[in-house]
Amino acid sequence: MVAFLVVLACAPLPKGDAQRPDIILVSIDSLRADHLGSYGSTRGATPFLDALAARGSRYAHARSSAPWTLPSHTTMLTGLWPQQHTVVDDGRKIDGSLPMIQESLQKAGYATAGFVSTIYVSKRFGFDRGFDHFEDFDIGMRNNLEHPVHAAELLSEAQSWVKKNGKDKPVFLFLHIYDVHYPYQPPPGYETRFNRAATAAELDYREYAYYKKKPVRPKRMELLRGQYDECLLAVDDQLRSFVGLWDKVGRSANWLITADHGEEFGERGSWGHAQTLYSELLDVPLIAVGPDFPASVRQEVVGHVDLAPTLAGLVGSSWSGPGVDIRKPVPERVMLADTSRFDTLRLSVEAGGHRLNVDRKSGDYELFDRRADPKEEKILDDAVQQNALEAMLLRSMGQPCQLKEGVLRSPKGQLWQGEIWVEELVAPASFGLFPPDAKFRVDEGQPGTSDPRVSCATTSTASSLDPETRRQLEALGYVQEGEEE
Ligand SMILES: [Zn+2]
Repeated sequence: MVAFLVVLACAPLPKGDAQRPDIILVSIDSLRADHLGSYGSTRGATPFLDALAARGSRYAHARSSAPWTLPSHTTMLTGLWPQQHTVVDDGRKIDGSLPMIQESLQKAGYATAGFVSTIYVSKRFGFDRGFDHFEDFDIGMRNNLEHPVHAAELLSEAQSWVKKNGKDKPVFLFLHIYDVHYPYQPPPGYETRFNRAATAAELDYREYAYYKKKPVRPKRMELLRGQYDECLLAVDDQLRSFVGLWDKVGRSANWLITADHGEEFGERGSWGHAQTLYSELLDVPLIAVGPDFPASVRQEVVGHVDLAPTLAGLVGSSWSGPGVDIRKPVPERVMLADTSRFDTLRLSVEAGGHRLNVDRKSGDYELFDRRADPKEEKILDDAVQQNALEAMLLRSMGQPCQLKEGVLRSPKGQLWQGEIWVEELVAPASFGLFPPDAKFRVDEGQPGTSDPRVSCATTSTASSLDPETRRQLEALGYVQEGEEE
């Protein structure tokens, strides 16, 4: 820690270009929104991030699209839902044909660099494309947890790189910080800031399913929360030093600070992430600070799909995908999240202040009122809302997706094996709100891929609704008057 601070102190950055601010995207792995003071925590683990949020735009309702690292970061950098980029398991890699935001920034004249600290954001999965320099510290599956890359080292490397490469050009940095991820091991000086230091056995993490069967006792869970917050406080201090490098020389930058997903501390009976889609995992911080982000607290629902369009907008480019540039007013939309990790198959659809959580394996549905019940503690019994949200989901899936022999599925055949899709799409009459005149279009398949690629599209949506359903949807805000025909 001492060496790190000395390095920072001795190395002023070049002044940069005030007309073209740097763009710095920081992802703090596993950081749930409600552990920041600006998002409601009273513990005091994020004094710097809270002060930073007050200088810029804090998005109070930011969503992740996946509860684990690989698909979530793929969404951040491609601007696509997991259902579209399909990088949802260890055997997948980002398809070379999918545009990544760093390529656009590189083309716009930015020097680009990525510094990452887990294998799930590494070269192995295709994250290095479009970066002039990409440092994944040769991280492997084993040393990921046992010998993590610490924020201090990662930020020091990034600083050195900007010093060398940011003289004549603005820079785009993608920084992935792993220090808040389990096992929560605060650096020296932080272990007892919020409670006593934990033993190695107390910090040992097994797996979500194990803790679901054998729940962590409340006392130990509270200890773990303290360790997590101590790790967060250390990251907060390191970011204070890092952002201070820019402030010190007046170098202009737009900072976007978020997390790939959150962490469960017993809310659903277990500990960890990746297997469920509740607010403790999908609600992430999003703080945007810089000349393009006026001081404000934004109340619209935004998500990681919006990051690429926003970064593209910062350099005067556009971005194709479901997201929007969140500097502008954000319209009401359907927000999706998905997980098929560790033999799960879950889907989340959020719209109109409600969220539908669907377990495709069991067929269980849970509906929550996100405004009245932000922690999602009370399941609503509302068939109209459920149908409306499903209809919205199917409409959003009218974007190109993959359909093979009547079965909607990922290239590996895992994501959409639930027969529900087959029945609904092939025999839409079985699904009340899906338009009976939905049509499917077969494309010829992409060169070099073994799966024929088939697009499904609806030619109309609300126009086929019966009058009563349509009235209900209008009342709920899902259908605009005059939207169809
Ligand atoms: Zn993660």
